[in-house]
Amino acid sequence: MESYDVIVIGSGPGGYVAAIRAAQLGNKTALIEKYNALGGTCLNVGCIPSKALLDSSEHYHQSQHQFAEHGIRATGWKLDFKQMIKRKAGVVEQTTAGLDFLMKKNNITVCHGLGSFKDSHTITITPAKGKASEISGKNIIIATGSKPASLPFIQIDKKRVITSTEALSLPALPKSLVVVGGGVIGLELGSVYARLGTEVHVVEYQNAIIPTMDRAMGKELMRSMKKLGVKFHLQHGVKEVKASAKSVVVKANDQKGAEVIWKADYCLVSVGRKAYTEGLNLSAAGLGADDGGRIPVDHQMRTSVPHIFAIGDVVRGAMLAHKAEEEGVVAAEVIAGQQPHIDYNLIPNVVYTWPEVAGVGQTEEELKASGTPYKSGSFPFKASARARASMDTDGSVKVLAHAETDEILGVHMCGPRAADMIAEAVVAMEFRASAEDISRMSHAHPTFTEAIKEAALAATSDRALHI
Ligand code: FAD
Ligand code: NAD
Repeated sequence: MESYDVIVIGSGPGGYVAAIRAAQLGNKTALIEKYNALGGTCLNVGCIPSKALLDSSEHYHQSQHQFAEHGIRATGWKLDFKQMIKRKAGVVEQTTAGLDFLMKKNNITVCHGLGSFKDSHTITITPAKGKASEISGKNIIIATGSKPASLPFIQIDKKRVITSTEALSLPALPKSLVVVGGGVIGLELGSVYARLGTEVHVVEYQNAIIPTMDRAMGKELMRSMKKLGVKFHLQHGVKEVKASAKSVVVKANDQKGAEVIWKADYCLVSVGRKAYTEGLNLSAAGLGADDGGRIPVDHQMRTSVPHIFAIGDVVRGAMLAHKAEEEGVVAAEVIAGQQPHIDYNLIPNVVYTWPEVAGVGQTEEELKASGTPYKSGSFPFKASARARASMDTDGSVKVLAHAETDEILGVHMCGPRAADMIAEAVVAMEFRASAEDISRMSHAHPTFTEAIKEAALAATSDRALHI
């Protein structure tokens, strides 16, 4: 039996990054993946394909609704939905092939098959075809990720009642779509289809969309998505989803208890994801999962068995690719005897709609709840010359700073390129900048980032310059 210093189970952004870092640190490393393609949810059916479709659909939307205003008149624009899906598949293929190269470059042994514990050091690998084999590891990192969650009364048939996975590969453009859950997946994929002309209804249980992010940003995004034609039904409790051969009927109760019914081509269920440990045979390693199905770990990603680590969606915390990556690095470095650290408060959250939403640190609601004295400064993109130039004037930036020390406690934005701009806030907060620090730094003109400087000026002493 071949033995390794580090065995990683699962090749998503948590697992493959952990494997690379472990190999960089001189460990003989193996990576086990049950599917043929490496990359996990993120590369195959998550971050990358969704962003490919978000970009394609935004181009189409602009061609229909904005180009004429820019002075570009063309006739005969035609949506080729099959080509859009094909291009997305190509992007995924290129990206996962890139991972095969990275594994070779780092001398990582890739084993395809289901990994399960025989005992705490031995992993049985069962491929889709052929004989099972075993390998042993001094250290093991579990990175088996997550799967879509559902509601007890919803039967996901993957034909009419679908998850994000099917929504990324529909055979034809739907005329109508009901989205259950106004979180990240619902809004990103709802945007894709609304831009292409599908009638989209978002049904959300709470009184806000993206309810865990700063509430002001959810309101801004909802205003923009309503302009796209998306219909929002907040505080609606879905109670029944019934599929037939060609359509689906969704029933919910509104705030007053009255029944509301929608009929649509598809129902996308996006009410969260759950940790995935099926087939791992955790008990053979002396491990178990908590009530939410996650594997308990300490701040170093160590499970209750000292040489076994777990990272990413299968453990507590936000289900984000970059969070999984950071944890992969931590696990590999702890195995190498280092003392790495993650500041979870500084993991940014992004929604890749247009405008995009991004946030880092504490939300205004969290600051209020904890009684932290804070001041807030906002700047709307309407007042940004750069935003006017590109016709991207929806949204704003909000900087939250400590009332006494001026230290930045949170930055939240809804606007053009917020996904990229949030990095400035992460750097600032990592170095514990004050709002005044940001407001005194030169921001190139004209850029969207000037809105951050202006919001910081507004927060530090109510002296924004351009509003
Ligand atoms: P995963 O990526 O889920 O990978 C786990 C891997 O383990 C899988 O390949 C699985 O096949 C394999 N596996 C499981 N069990 C076994 C076993 N027993 N043996 C062998 N292999 C096994 N996050 C972002 O940060 N940004 C985004 O833009 C974003 N967009 C998303 C869009 C969608 C539609 C979805 C669904 C998710 C999105 N996410 C996004 C979330 C992101 O995909 C996850 O947080 C991330 O993939 C988690 O990484 P992971 O390594 O923990 O697990
Ligand atoms: P989510 O947790 O973001 O949103 C789920 C939404 O469903 C919430 O708003 C919740 O209030 C609502 N909901 C729950 N029960 C409901 C009910 N009975 N009726 C109506 N609404 C209900 O989950 P998601 O959108 O499924 O995404 C899953 C995970 O994938 C998230 O944790 C997210 O971090 C990750 N993801 C991230 C990105 C990104 O980073 N851009 C993109 C997609 C997915």
